[in-house]
Amino acid sequence: MADSDTRERLEPRPVTEETVLTVDDDHFVPESVCLVTGGASGIGRAIALAMAANGLTAVATDVDEDGLAETSDMAADMDARGGVKTVVGDLTDDGDIERIVETASGHGDLRYLANVAGMQHIDAIEDFPMEQYDRMHDVMLRAPLHLAKLTLPHVRATDDGVGAVGNMASVHGHYVTADKVGYNVSKFGLRGLTQSIAAEGDGDLRSFSVSTGYVKTPLVTGQIPDTAEQRGLTVDEVIDDVMLGQSRVKEMMDPVDVANLFVFGFSKHARHLNGGDLPFDGGMTLTYE
Ligand code: NAD
Repeated sequence: MADSDTRERLEPRPVTEETVLTVDDDHFVPESVCLVTGGASGIGRAIALAMAANGLTAVATDVDEDGLAETSDMAADMDARGGVKTVVGDLTDDGDIERIVETASGHGDLRYLANVAGMQHIDAIEDFPMEQYDRMHDVMLRAPLHLAKLTLPHVRATDDGVGAVGNMASVHGHYVTADKVGYNVSKFGLRGLTQSIAAEGDGDLRSFSVSTGYVKTPLVTGQIPDTAEQRGLTVDEVIDDVMLGQSRVKEMMDPVDVANLFVFGFSKHARHLNGGDLPFDGGMTLTYE
């Protein structure tokens, strides 16, 4: 079990005025809507708060109703220029996906979509439950496509057609670790979806992906004990040797660091980022010992 020093290492920096990147952009106004999946926790929550801090109306969606309520309370406490609305929904349900986009577009001009919801499952290929594989594929690959399919017409219907789809990929969309086949395949696919949207956008409607190493969220802290058991390591060894071993930056990212990449990616400063990936992994996939 993690001791207090370990817990401190895993405690994320909160999303505040000081930690959020703010960008002066004519589209970053309350009339512009940014739909964010996975908005009840971790990275999705941080993106919803960061977009609200930038003056937009963020619509956070998730299956976790209590988590969404917390995100909404946090936005209210931040006294953001924009705000966070919430809509509960399950991304494995097509009817829910339609309702989520309809709700988001009811709050203003739906211009931005952040596909963030995800999950992890650790098992060797021979033991990987197909049901779990299908579920991961549904949430992390099929839903992002379906949400994009329904969002693009709203972007095209705005006065200038400016908007973007940002997809939360991972280092696991570039190279892989053992026993994560469902995750690896979904993240490689998500980069393909990103490029496909860029190919069909007209330049004003863009797409990009973000690939990070390990970020301090429940998805990561939840898998540490399993990895420790599977590899016969302590919790700190998993953090230092498995998660950060190949990274040159010996510290996990905070959710707000990732949210800031989405703020940049959605902004006018990223108008030439189209189909591309932002690999912010501390050198993990690009260096070799
Ligand atoms: P998290 O567990 O904190 O949040 C994931 C959210 O997705 C949860 O709130 C969960 O309820 C939601 N979700 C899961 N299934 C859903 C469904 N069927 N319908 C609706 N919502 C559902 O995890 P996180 O770390 O914030 O991860 C967010 C994304 O970032 C994931 O796609 C993950 O793969 C990616 N990512 C995370 C890390 C990391 O180190 N944490 C690194 C790279 C990429």
